[in-house]
Amino acid sequence: MTATLLSDANQRLEKALQYVTIHEDAIERLKFPKASLTVSIPVRMDDGSLRVFQGYRVRYDDSRGPTKGGVRFHPSVTLDEVQSLAFWMTFKCAALSIPFGGAKGGITLNPKELSKFELERLSRGYIDLIADFIGPDIDIPAPDVYTNPMIMGWMMDQYSTIRRQITPAVVTGKPLTMGGSLGRETATAMGAFFTIQTLMPKYDRRPEETTVAVQGFGNAGSVIAELLFRAGYKVVAVSDSQGGVYAPEGLDIPSIRQFKESTRGIKAVYCKGTVCNSIDHEVLTNAELLELDVDILVPAALENQITGENAARIRAPFIFEVANGPITSAADQILEEKGIQVFPDILVNAGGVTVSYFEWVQNRCGYYWSLEEVNQRLKEKMTRETELIWVISHELSCSMRTAAYVHALKRLAEAIEAKGTRDDYTS
Ligand code: GLU
Repeated sequence: MTATLLSDANQRLEKALQYVTIHEDAIERLKFPKASLTVSIPVRMDDGSLRVFQGYRVRYDDSRGPTKGGVRFHPSVTLDEVQSLAFWMTFKCAALSIPFGGAKGGITLNPKELSKFELERLSRGYIDLIADFIGPDIDIPAPDVYTNPMIMGWMMDQYSTIRRQITPAVVTGKPLTMGGSLGRETATAMGAFFTIQTLMPKYDRRPEETTVAVQGFGNAGSVIAELLFRAGYKVVAVSDSQGGVYAPEGLDIPSIRQFKESTRGIKAVYCKGTVCNSIDHEVLTNAELLELDVDILVPAALENQITGENAARIRAPFIFEVANGPITSAADQILEEKGIQVFPDILVNAGGVTVSYFEWVQNRCGYYWSLEEVNQRLKEKMTRETELIWVISHELSCSMRTAAYVHALKRLAEAIEAKGTRDDYTS
């Protein structure tokens, strides 16, 4: 298993390199993570016992600035996974022209099994062990799968205690009162929404005629489903880790969100006030949702959902990757042969890190922006880079994924080459 994910991620780099000439020194640098830290975090559990959790932080590349990326709490976290996620962050920040490199962190656990006290001790313990590896000018963690503003607040607080100095810019995605930014919680979905709104008109697709299925109903999936619903798209299927619902006539997403918030489950309901009634629907698994005959498929859960095994059965002509790495490189090829347009994670879900950057800027200035300002700047950035990647994909006749990598690679290579290449030393 080790290195499988990272080598899969590296295949995207290899593909992009067929379309762009960059110095061999830069290619060599980008193949390996700069630094990987593994820690064992001892946590006193509520029953008095002691448990040790495995944690990781990987700084992949910092040629363009301090490294940036989330921390996930999930049972499947491994060093290999964290390294590949850090690789993607490197390209994501470069694709969006954010002055950061890429990083990622994770702790292997099922967060649903821990109490809030235990989660707090774990989060603070993690920071105790990685404090010398992070910092506002070194590496800046943020939320990812199953981590949230409260956890980011604990992490920032712990780092500030260690440094004896309030240091809000060390972590992003914090609660507002601790230096968080307005719009950060909805930023990933909002950014994805702006890319969809920029790209769909290019295919003459109007919202009212477009059906959508969303896999994953967490922070990103539930918000993108609602944004699309409110913009007039017909969201016909949604799912969470337990499975999903499908109603060809369309679902009422605000009702489902309200229901999920009070019960923690997904149900096809229509709510009036606090009364929610079930509507006609089919129950389906996550795998079945991916294969629905819809116009837009939005994988917004975990990586490796569309693989060589099920890619041939995917029917949606457009896929927007809101999750990181939901499609393997083997699946990419099959989807491309079927004429399915894939809009890649490093562009589509970059709204999260973009507003994280805005949060870091605000922390360092000590001056905070309005929600309108945040969303306006996010819209400008997402729209601009989406258009640039679109042009590259047409100029080079390549997929949007390869175009996004080419776009990022040029910026990364420029930064790496600025420090000197073999040509500077041998001529
Ligand atoms: N975890 C998010 C991502 O994968 C956000 C990272 C950040 O804000 O630094 O893009």
